[in-house]
Amino acid sequence: MQNNLLTIQASYQSLFDSKSEIEKELVNLKNWETTKLNYALKQISPGCFVYVMKDAQNSTDNSYWLCANCFNTKNHKSIFQRKYASGEDVVCHSCNAELNIPSKTQHQIPKPTGW
Ligand SMILES: [Zn+2]
Repeated sequence: MQNNLLTIQASYQSLFDSKSEIEKELVNLKNWETTKLNYALKQISPGCFVYVMKDAQNSTDNSYWLCANCFNTKNHKSIFQRKYASGEDVVCHSCNAELNIPSKTQHQIPKPTGW
C-alpha cells in the first residue's frame, strides 16, 4: 500500500515536471513567433539570404543581419559579424555559416535598404 502511494506520487511529480517543461517551451515558441514578425528575409547578393529588421530605417538598432540558418532551424537570432576587421566576409559564430559579400553591397551593411 505504502509502495503504491510512493509510486503514484513519483508518477505525479514526473508528469508535473513534464507539464512545466512543455509550458516553458510553449511560452518560448510564442515569444519567438512574435519576434519573427519583426524580421524579413532579404537577398543581399545572388543566393545569399539574411534576415533584417522590417523597420530598419526607423530603428536605431538597424545595423545587423541575422543568420537565416539559425533563424529558421534554431529559432535563434544570431548576428553576422565581420570575419576580419578589414575583410568583406561575414560569419555567424553560432553555426559558422559564412557569407562572402560582394563589394557593391558593402554600403548596405550599416543600413539595409531597398527591400
Ligand atoms: Zn548561424
